[in-house]
Amino acid sequence: MKEKIRQFMIGRYGTDGLNQFLSIASLVLILVYILTRLPLLLYVGVVLLGFCYYRMFSRNISKRTEENYKYYAVKDRIRNKFSGLKDQWDNRRLYHYYRCPQCRQKLRVPRGRGRIQISCPRCGTQFIKKS
Ligand SMILES: [Zn+2]
Repeated sequence: MKEKIRQFMIGRYGTDGLNQFLSIASLVLILVYILTRLPLLLYVGVVLLGFCYYRMFSRNISKRTEENYKYYAVKDRIRNKFSGLKDQWDNRRLYHYYRCPQCRQKLRVPRGRGRIQISCPRCGTQFIKKS
């Protein structure tokens, strides 16, 4: 049996970070469905699980690898965003955070200096805010 599975998996993609995420996400959705009976959760969970198996047995390895890279890129972006928000929260007594009105660059200014002129280091726009 084990040998048969091994034979079957030759030349197929197998599992990766994205598949781990998909299988856990679908499991969580199905468990929440059992608790809440919201049919949408079951549909989405089954679709994610189906996609996970499709990827595992796929023979198009380069395409699957590319998907996995994209998954890690998105994951990193989300993680960076959250760690930025955490820093912002931790330093909320020391700094004010503003966005440049021109280029949306996030800017940090020390608190308690009254009204100050802020110049964006990225695009050079100047604006006045309370610090
Ligand atoms: Zn700017």
